[in-house]
Amino acid sequence: MLYPWQQTEWQQLTSQLDRLPHALLLTGEAGIGKLAFARHLAQSLLCEQGDIARRPCGECDACRWYLAGNHPDFRELTPVAEEEGDEESSKAKKKPSAYITIDQVRELNDFVNLSAHRGGRRVTLIHPAETLNAAAANALLKTLEEPPAGAMFILVSHQWRRLLPTIRSRCRRFPMALPAQAEAMAWLDAAGLEHAEAHLAEAGGAPLAALERADATVLAARERFLRELAQPRQMDPLALAEQLDKQKIEVARVTDWLARWVYDVARLGLTQSIRYHPTEAARLQPLAEGVEPIRLMRYHDSLLAAKKLATHPLNARLVFEQLLFGYQQAMRASARQ
Ligand SMILES: [Zn+2]
Repeated sequence: MLYPWQQTEWQQLTSQLDRLPHALLLTGEAGIGKLAFARHLAQSLLCEQGDIARRPCGECDACRWYLAGNHPDFRELTPVAEEEGDEESSKAKKKPSAYITIDQVRELNDFVNLSAHRGGRRVTLIHPAETLNAAAANALLKTLEEPPAGAMFILVSHQWRRLLPTIRSRCRRFPMALPAQAEAMAWLDAAGLEHAEAHLAEAGGAPLAALERADATVLAARERFLRELAQPRQMDPLALAEQLDKQKIEVARVTDWLARWVYDVARLGLTQSIRYHPTEAARLQPLAEGVEPIRLMRYHDSLLAAKKLATHPLNARLVFEQLLFGYQQAMRASARQ
């Protein structure tokens, strides 16, 4: 899949699809879709559709294998989670590694030096290439210097100047630009992001980064919100409503958070089980003690009604205030602390 702003770059690169150098280095800001572009290119290189201009066709055997993640002539190298702790332990923790290791590159070299299953290319995608540690980079270098016939390497890098100069000099660099503001905005609007312009500006113009940052903001806001809900007596509805409004959290989202929370309080009181917040038992339990489930469920219903009405309220802050005062009341009536 390509992003809409990548069409021109795609034409530039693929007009020479059958004459590409054996190692390409795609560079540019993080969050502009380089990886998606690289994968699209990998699929095109493997595609068996005769007409190059129509690749990837999405229908041939090669495309289907690629899309299913099991094309035998394709490898993707990226930092992988490492097992930690002793191997006997069934609870070995997985820790995301910061680097692509020499073991991964050795395995890759074995793959590259086999002949292709389909008699065509063997394609390797490495991202982000700056995470190759020194030993891994040196091991890769040997293969880049004397690539077996048919081997193709696509390296993706947000910070290509951090790559070994010897690696860089073995690749043809293909710089990818930030999309035009209008194109990025159109895409973010279509993705349903509210306040897209502000998020895009914060992300330095990179649309995927903007989307990710917006998600991170929402997660952090939710965590703070649940902390407040856990202490209904100390909660200040006016301050909290103002905060949610400032963070541009949508009303529908907040009603969902509230409804799930209240549902779990009621359910915990009735059946000793939790549906939506299994990790929040310690916060929910004190609330559920002495609960009046019927009252809570009535409030829960009013939340769902509010959500239906409030697609684009003129004054979100006012709605938040009403919802939160309602929550305090429902909890006050039920908690006999
Ligand atoms: Zn195909």
